[in-house]
Amino acid sequence: MSELDKKYPINFIRQIIDEDQDGGKHDGRVHTRFPPEPNGYLHIGHAKSICLNFGIARDYRDGKCNLRFDDTNPHKENIEYVNSIIEDVQWLGFDWEERLYYASDYFEQLHDYAVELIGKGKAYVCDLTAEEVRAYRGTLTEPGKPSPYRDRSVEENLDLFRRMKAGEFEDGSRVLRAKIDMASPNMNMRDPTLYRIRHGVIHHQTGESWCIYPMYDYTHPISDALEGITHSLCTLEFEDHRPLYNWVLDNISIKCHPQQIEFSRLNLQYTVVSKRKLTQLVDEDHVNGWDDPRMPTLAGLRRRGYTPVSIREFCDRIGVTKAENSVEMGILEACIREDLDRNSPRAMAVLDPLKLVIENLPEGETLQLEAPNHPKDESMGKRRLGFTREIYIDRADFREEASRKYKRLVTGGEVRLRNAYVIKCERVVKDADGEITELRCSYDPETLGVNPEGRKVRGVIHWVSAVHGVRAEVRLYDRLFNHPAPDADKSVESFLEHLNPGSFRVADDAMVEPGLAVARPGDRFQFEREGYFILDVSDSTPDRPVFNRTVTLRDSWSKIEQQNR
Ligand code: ATP
Ligand code: MG
Repeated sequence: MSELDKKYPINFIRQIIDEDQDGGKHDGRVHTRFPPEPNGYLHIGHAKSICLNFGIARDYRDGKCNLRFDDTNPHKENIEYVNSIIEDVQWLGFDWEERLYYASDYFEQLHDYAVELIGKGKAYVCDLTAEEVRAYRGTLTEPGKPSPYRDRSVEENLDLFRRMKAGEFEDGSRVLRAKIDMASPNMNMRDPTLYRIRHGVIHHQTGESWCIYPMYDYTHPISDALEGITHSLCTLEFEDHRPLYNWVLDNISIKCHPQQIEFSRLNLQYTVVSKRKLTQLVDEDHVNGWDDPRMPTLAGLRRRGYTPVSIREFCDRIGVTKAENSVEMGILEACIREDLDRNSPRAMAVLDPLKLVIENLPEGETLQLEAPNHPKDESMGKRRLGFTREIYIDRADFREEASRKYKRLVTGGEVRLRNAYVIKCERVVKDADGEITELRCSYDPETLGVNPEGRKVRGVIHWVSAVHGVRAEVRLYDRLFNHPAPDADKSVESFLEHLNPGSFRVADDAMVEPGLAVARPGDRFQFEREGYFILDVSDSTPDRPVFNRTVTLRDSWSKIEQQNR
């Protein structure tokens, strides 16, 4: 079933929206937002949030979704990240209303609302050091102590906040805090910080205009309200922040009051989905950048060969709930396999070539054969394949001796070459070290498309003409970690100990069929019997095509997991 004929997903958030609409809440509007911080590349966890937020806007009448950069931490953010996020959201297939939004667009208004809070006696400038603030805050079992600066007069607070903004004070010397409740059982309500001082950073949007920056918990509700957001969807760790979200909006003169709803984060097995850990992988060169095909970033998945449809389908399948869990990598892989099985043309590629000489086919002669590009979809057409005296098969498809169970080529045995003839291995040629260098074979011209009578053909193997084939580099990717929950395992010091040393192998001497020489970067294929591959967008050249393995044909990990149980 294609994504288009599918009914819309149902989840508890959409049910809340349906009820709100029936009850006329928010004037019947639906307006969501996706608010990434531009401090890293988007990962598959973000895709869940993008599909949820933009999906709602897509499926509800007059629904809207803003892409908003939550850019209040200038020392960790940069324009490269902003641009990658824009590219990734569009690639996933979503678009936003007219323009992009930045929390930094609201710095002026955020400042004015802070002045309003001070004027109402609801915020104060506090001179405690960060350490002292922490000590005063108390613990889960003990109430906090009020800051000695808590009862400053409105006039003094206004003056100090003005001077904070004017740059008179050093980083860390003062903060603006909300005056809420130092005895609240919710730590977030014990006079949280609203503004901090940060000199000497150049913000990617506002440059050096500001030396005070608003905190996330203060910025977020106001940004939502200024944009007329109706449903502010976030992950469960913000549940305890909801009272603060509401406090901010209840205590300033703003009309709109979006409702915050929390859902569980996506955790995916055999990888990590935290920007901090992904940044560490990149910075410490455990991977080749944010778009390394082993990374769970959207840039990495794209380069690996994942399609936007497969990722959207994955997000639909895992659904949206409040239950914390860890999703099997097999579910993501099944989504891409289904898409590529249906939509990618077949081709033959030999990853570890072994030369095979067809002795009864004269040199210089080429038999013209035809092969369907897709076994189940005639509309994908056919291609021509030249069958020549010298061809390559994969070393793994030959054994000198083997049991009956081995369905490939053995000395004296017969096998069918995919899209071609039945061949028989007559003898093996070896070098001085005993290494097989060549197989001498014969082919049966009567077997094109028909099976020989009365003879047992063991199986079907793929091949590439040594005359017409093209050399290629094939990159074989596997899971980046060999532990299902690398960052949850308490028995190791660092999640890095679970990096899978076999996550990247190169077949640098592969041979692919000649038609692939004209493939364009980003084209996807099923290499028969090997898996799904994409022509690499960054490193491939016409002289040396580079293919990335997106996924194997079958899930070999589930077997390994079963054995380990
Ligand atoms: P990280 O911990 O990786 O830095 P984050 O939540 O800090 O993630 P943001 O850039 O702030 O990253 O996230 C933007 C939006 O994406 C937020 O609404 C956040 O809740 C959501 N999001 C981030 N990670 C996930 C995830 N694993 N599953 C679902 N939603 C996520
Ligand atoms: Mg964050």
